[in-house]
Amino acid sequence: MLTDCHLHLRPDEIDATAAEHFTPANVQRYREVAEERGIAELGVSEHIYRFTQALDVWRHPFWRENAIDDIDEYCRFVREHTDLRLGIEADFVPGAEDRMANLLQARDFDYVIGSVHFIRDHAVDMDDYSAWNSGRSAEEIWRAYFRSLGEAARSGLFDILAHPDLVKVWGRERPLPEGDLRRYYELAIDGIAESGIAIEVSTAGLRKRAQELYPAPAFLQMCVEAGAPVALSSDAHRPQDVGADYEQAFELLDSVGVSELCVFEHRRRRLEPLGAGVL
Ligand SMILES: [Zn+2]
Ligand SMILES: [Zn+2]
Repeated sequence: MLTDCHLHLRPDEIDATAAEHFTPANVQRYREVAEERGIAELGVSEHIYRFTQALDVWRHPFWRENAIDDIDEYCRFVREHTDLRLGIEADFVPGAEDRMANLLQARDFDYVIGSVHFIRDHAVDMDDYSAWNSGRSAEEIWRAYFRSLGEAARSGLFDILAHPDLVKVWGRERPLPEGDLRRYYELAIDGIAESGIAIEVSTAGLRKRAQELYPAPAFLQMCVEAGAPVALSSDAHRPQDVGADYEQAFELLDSVGVSELCVFEHRRRRLEPLGAGVL
């Protein structure tokens, strides 16, 4: 069994509309690539901040700008017009855990992917609102990022922890802390171990300036030793990226002894043996 449960039916550009992309014909394009690559288990996980209901949770200017669509229409579309699992990618917003829980629990998702894209009001992976212009050192940003990741796991809001070392997204374009990075991973690992959350192995980092899988091998090793199961995804925002570069992900998984992948239904998790399909 192969999975790709972190998919977006549209690019992140604000002018990529729901009407244009939440269509059976677009889903069919994702299915076709998945089939070619031997991926049977597909799920969609749109960004929560693109839905108006997210403004009950957080009113960051970036969210206010993006919150255009109705989340229940998205859920209805996926359930009634597709055979995809219904997921959502939700940011961890410290201090808004109860409001996020209300938003998530009122809908019948198959799974919720938790992401840390922001450190307080500053974005880790965008030029707008960038944490890298906030006067903080790389060490401070990395520490804050991994602390937040551990809190996100511990919050119990999420089934999967997305792109676990997203903070490296810029590669050498942003200053990197020196030396062994495990001192940062340590800041998240207790939360990951105690929560039982699944860890995402994502090929998206290969398509970013980092040009690496998320997470780094040493971090994945620590997560696996802490008992975390793995969810495998591409984080594709267009059909041709479904299952992209999975060969590299298989090598990483094999190197840390992972032979099973998570599958989710109505927020219950089971493990299926990893089968390399027709890749
Ligand atoms: Zn993300
Ligand atoms: Zn995503």
